[in-house]
Amino acid sequence: MTLTIRFDNRYARLPDRFFARLAPTPVAAPRLLALNEPLARALGLDPLALAAPDGVAMLAGNALPAGAEPLAQAYAGHQFGGWNPQLGDGRAILLGEVLAPDGRRFDLQLKGAGPTPFSRRGDGRAWLGPVLREYLVSEAMAALGVPTTRALAAVATGEEVWRETALPGAVLARVASSHVRVGTFQFFAAREDAEALRLLTGFVLARHYPGVEGPLGLIRAAAEAQGRLVARWMSLGFIHGVMNTDNAHVGGETIDYGPCAFMDDYHPARVFSSIDQFGRYAYQNQPQIAVWNVAQLASALLPILEGPREAAIEAATEAVHAFAPTYEAEWLARFRAKLGLATAEDGDGALAQDLLSRMATLGADFTRTFRGLATGAARAEFAEPEAWDGWAALWQARLAREGRGLDQAQAAAALANPALIPRNHRIEQAISAAVAGDMAPFGRLAAALARPFDLAPADADLALAPAPAEAVRRTFCGT
Ligand code: AMP
Ligand code: MG
Repeated sequence: MTLTIRFDNRYARLPDRFFARLAPTPVAAPRLLALNEPLARALGLDPLALAAPDGVAMLAGNALPAGAEPLAQAYAGHQFGGWNPQLGDGRAILLGEVLAPDGRRFDLQLKGAGPTPFSRRGDGRAWLGPVLREYLVSEAMAALGVPTTRALAAVATGEEVWRETALPGAVLARVASSHVRVGTFQFFAAREDAEALRLLTGFVLARHYPGVEGPLGLIRAAAEAQGRLVARWMSLGFIHGVMNTDNAHVGGETIDYGPCAFMDDYHPARVFSSIDQFGRYAYQNQPQIAVWNVAQLASALLPILEGPREAAIEAATEAVHAFAPTYEAEWLARFRAKLGLATAEDGDGALAQDLLSRMATLGADFTRTFRGLATGAARAEFAEPEAWDGWAALWQARLAREGRGLDQAQAAAALANPALIPRNHRIEQAISAAVAGDMAPFGRLAAALARPFDLAPADADLALAPAPAEAVRRTFCGT
């Protein structure tokens, strides 16, 4: 079995100041923990060859596949609003771009592959917990239809990583439509490197937005892509947790799963990240933060906008404002579908908000309540069932106006509301078991999450809300 990968590396053709060329640092004893076979096949890679020793060596960074041109990308970013002119891939190495059999192009990156010139004080490594967490959550997002980076494989390194205590090290093989972030543009803007901004704009337009032209077109396209993306997050109760500009993907994919979480009981102000003291990245703040991030992209691109400065600023601002209508339309479309509605009425947004505010008041479980619209079980999620009854009457009246029966609405709602999301306590259980050497809970959870609308009876426990003692209220950075 030989592993052939069809590389065609365009980022590596950009000038040297875009990255540092270096190979991953080999690890002591690579061992395959998880392999995403469907994704491997979609990339034109033979799963058997990937799982064989040579393949695992490649996934761990111990061997370079033919055609790889490994590099760490440079970027900057606003972290919690504070400017950092020098970030970059501190523990990730891009092996190259893979041309899939369907013609699409994907970055193949190893995360946790050893130190780079951008590591600052970090060790360049990852421990098993964040690697498995990103694997589970990013693959769940993909199965839910949300634009996201993907997880191809997780490999144990056989080395320890020190995070206040010794933990097992791991490498995640990540696949993405690109790894260009708002912070990549900011890196060059801060260095007043207009030439690099032009090259990067051309790269991103070709990669993500064929047919779109110029930096202004890019701002608008990125604003719309972020609008669609964040509306999807909101419709699933997903909280990214660290929406820094270096974690804002210009193609509109969810990237950098650190302290992210799906909510159990709903509250719009919910925050999980242990380092988000002031709730900057709370659930309800995500749309505003996304706009702010796109505005940072616009300011980074200002030096290469055409025409007089005043007019350029005005045009860029208008392009950033493409976020709001896209976000609102997508949010409404998603929530209409969640309510099982087939038509549009002016009051639909308010109807959805009314349900959400009743859920917030009573701490109803986000996923179970919406899934309950499809199964008839939503009432049981409300500590005070009258709160549900009041809303259900409005819902029924709305359904009557579109001439659909409850059964039709329920069937539609079943397609929009997943039974299964990666709940925090289940992720934590899978990680604890994996640290103890048992990958079975991870495997079971990953398999169930691949079909989130289609829960097998044997997996019913995975769809339960956590018991109070199981609930996870804090999540930690992926480092
Ligand atoms: P993140 O919060 O994961 O998006 O990472 C923010 C920055 O810190 C990025 O530049 C990462 O490459 C860097 N970083 C995170 N963890 C490590 C690590 N263990 N070693 C080196 N750099 C890291
Ligand atoms: Mg990051």
